[in-house]
Amino acid sequence: MHQYNTIKCNGQVFSFDIVDEEGCEVRITCFDEIAELHYHRVEKGAWYVVFKDSVKDASTVYNKLNNHLEIILTETSVLKRCASDVAETEKKLQFNPINKVLTTSNNTLVDVIGVVVNFEEILVIRRKDGSTVKKRIVKINDMSTFTIDVNLWRPPSEQLGNDLKNMHASGTFVILAIQNERVGYFNGKFINISASMTFEINPFILEANPLRLRGPILPCIDPHSSGVHHSDSEYQRMTIASILQRLSVMPETLETTIKVVLGFIKEDQFYYTTCPLQFNGKECKKKCSKLGDNLWLCPRCQTQIPECNYKYLLQMKLQDQTSSLWANAFDEVGTQLLALSAKELYMLQYDLTIEKTPRSILNKVMFTHYNFTVLVSTYTYNSERRLKVTINKVQRLDFEVECNYLLAEISRMGATT
Ligand SMILES: [Zn+2]
Repeated sequence: MHQYNTIKCNGQVFSFDIVDEEGCEVRITCFDEIAELHYHRVEKGAWYVVFKDSVKDASTVYNKLNNHLEIILTETSVLKRCASDVAETEKKLQFNPINKVLTTSNNTLVDVIGVVVNFEEILVIRRKDGSTVKKRIVKINDMSTFTIDVNLWRPPSEQLGNDLKNMHASGTFVILAIQNERVGYFNGKFINISASMTFEINPFILEANPLRLRGPILPCIDPHSSGVHHSDSEYQRMTIASILQRLSVMPETLETTIKVVLGFIKEDQFYYTTCPLQFNGKECKKKCSKLGDNLWLCPRCQTQIPECNYKYLLQMKLQDQTSSLWANAFDEVGTQLLALSAKELYMLQYDLTIEKTPRSILNKVMFTHYNFTVLVSTYTYNSERRLKVTINKVQRLDFEVECNYLLAEISRMGATT
């Protein structure tokens, strides 16, 4: 409820936004005693039928909804709350990728969804009139890999900021869906959470699934640097057949997620040998060649080494319901997949005291489901086009997340038929 003062009169005004089953939205505004009448009766998430209202052109200054009309309630209007058995629907949010929001003009209202990646401590800001206000900045990051600040002001969002911080600190993966909030600029773009606080924590909506599948770990990229840019669709899940088909018509490099069963892992040459020496303060890791028994040569350090290191180079056959392909996984993914370092796996073949063999370790993960983030590209070898597939991220299938993903996919199919 706001007070207004014009030359002619003073009064109060109150607005709320409604959305119907088709996702069309419109603002309803009431003035003075009508505002007084309805202000405490309108509840977020409830269903209403409006009769005998009047319609006018929407003010483009105050009303940024996607509707050029606006509803005004008068003395004769009826605002009736529906029975609770009306089917629930939600406004169809149109999430803007953060990289696009960063180039949006100030005061634009946006819908954004992202993973909380950082919290700042509460800041106390002194206003011009000497009063103070508290603010906490939360950083979120989305599939565009860009990060934006979300400003939580108190009141009312201090408690919310604390709750989010506790969830984040306890290792809970927090996704924030923000609806219809304003973009601003102060040392970089930010989104202000307004007093109406239109956002949701860990929403069960389709758009949250790529973030859930991706997991919380991705480096924050400074929006001002020219970081790696991903378009919206690149992380969407694809089937193997659709990857093969897309690359057969359009050779390109593609990063996507696939849900697969691990069909086979080659046991011969699952590793390569590297240099364990220090180079510029870090492990050298350069591929080194064998000179003889207990003797290796690093081409970078130009040193003979009595014992080399081992890193994974796994060659795996991935299968889904549509097709199969061969993919490579390097040390980080291999270690995560097998829960054993390449050196430990290599040594197993010489350890005759235990029953485990490299093959038995590899067999343990075979025929299990994974979500892999893969980088797929094509190259030509002997005038034949071949596929190069590298697994960049491995995630064992989380059945709860997967069920939500499938349910959302099914309801989306229903919506389009
Ligand atoms: Zn070296």
